Amino acid sequence: MPERDDIVVMKFGGTSVAGPAEIKRAAGRIVAAREAGARVVAVLSARGKSTDELVSYAYEISDHPDPREMDMLLSTGERISCALASMAINDMGHKAVSLTGSQAGIVTDSSHTKARIVDVRADRIKETLSQEAIVLVAGFQGVSTDSRDVTTLGRGGSDTTAVALAAALGASVCEIYTDVAGVFTADPRIVPDARKLAVVSFDEMQEMSASGAKILQLRSVEYARNHGVPIHCRSSFEDLPGTLVLPESETMERPIVTAVTHSDDESRVTVVGVRDEPGVAGRIFGALADANVNVDVIIQNEPIGEGALADLSFTVSREDLTTATGVIDGLGDISNSVRTDERIGKVSIVGAGMRSHPGVAARVFEVLGEQRINIEMISTSPIKISCVIAADQVPDAVRALHAAFELGADAVRPEDPTGEHRPTVSP
Ligand code: ADP
Ligand code: ASP
Ligand code: MG
Repeated sequence: MPERDDIVVMKFGGTSVAGPAEIKRAAGRIVAAREAGARVVAVLSARGKSTDELVSYAYEISDHPDPREMDMLLSTGERISCALASMAINDMGHKAVSLTGSQAGIVTDSSHTKARIVDVRADRIKETLSQEAIVLVAGFQGVSTDSRDVTTLGRGGSDTTAVALAAALGASVCEIYTDVAGVFTADPRIVPDARKLAVVSFDEMQEMSASGAKILQLRSVEYARNHGVPIHCRSSFEDLPGTLVLPESETMERPIVTAVTHSDDESRVTVVGVRDEPGVAGRIFGALADANVNVDVIIQNEPIGEGALADLSFTVSREDLTTATGVIDGLGDISNSVRTDERIGKVSIVGAGMRSHPGVAARVFEVLGEQRINIEMISTSPIKISCVIAADQVPDAVRALHAAFELGADAVRPEDPTGEHRPTVSP
């Protein structure tokens, strides 16, 4: 429970505000924190799948929706949730004020649909809190002071709004309320015996989010780490402790493998027949960076023979595929052709203990081999191993690795003797 006068930031994701009953339930939790004495800022996502619906409205009208107008459209979803929750809280006898991202002082750069927060001017929130009101902030959006336009922060961006506000307000904790009970050893929707983790380090959570664990947007973890904001990721449907995301400490358990993550929303681009000479990769990836395309796994083969040409493959999120191929085409004579795989899969294992344990990669490759899963690309960091595989084999790969590294709830764990951390997925 928060201390009296502590500022608490509580973020509710789409499922947690899906309909009237869920909005009233979230409002009840917000009011309970207020009645316990905290000053509360709640960040809400758009209801249910309404952001997907808004995206589909845009594509009903245009094949290439203008990014500025896309942000005008997408930012409406979270405003609806905030206004409705505010009404619910007012009905419960408390004063609540809803604010758009811009009104809340979330200042971003001007890269539409994936803007970065550059400043949080929280005076209006502080003023409203001092008037004893609960503040509701529309997540996932801000305003660019350069262009004076509304921006959005990329899918899952309400997590980052919440963390940025927690940092700016000196909140004691940023609570992320969602549809699972915390961060698990794998997505509990794919691995039924996945185990809830009591604590995860920022290092590990960053790798997990980067490799596809959607429970926290990657930027929110980076932001929390840079500003020292503790995150508590927990269920909005039951009142149990969830997972704390904190700086690594001496006392933290460091298993070799903490979690298995996956993604199936990436694409692969292969640039065929690239000239084998200095500066070419710099031109390709420089141009992609200028177009704001994040590249994940990269491989280039060594051409054999004098004057031979190389093939260069890399992966990007599927929503960036058209931009990425457009960028390569725009480089003209750099290659013979460009090939794409629209849907590839990726499975990764993450664990701080891997730093000091050789042989983990070999075990990953053996396990995938035993499942007859072909590895198409590999990338590693000191605490992560990722393999690109066929998208339809992702669930089997996740389950096989989770079992092989004994991450399941059935494995005996000293810190969870009752098995209380078994997953529940709501609703
Ligand atoms: P919200 O709408 O609350 O922001 P998200 O859908 O963005 O929720 O994130 C929660 C989802 O993340 C869960 O429903 C779960 O399927 C998925 N997920 C993926 N990996 C994990 C993991 N390791 N632990 C918990 N949830 C995970
Ligand atoms: N509504 C946005 C999305 O669906 C942002 C969020 O929920 O965090 O991506
Ligand atoms: Mg989310």
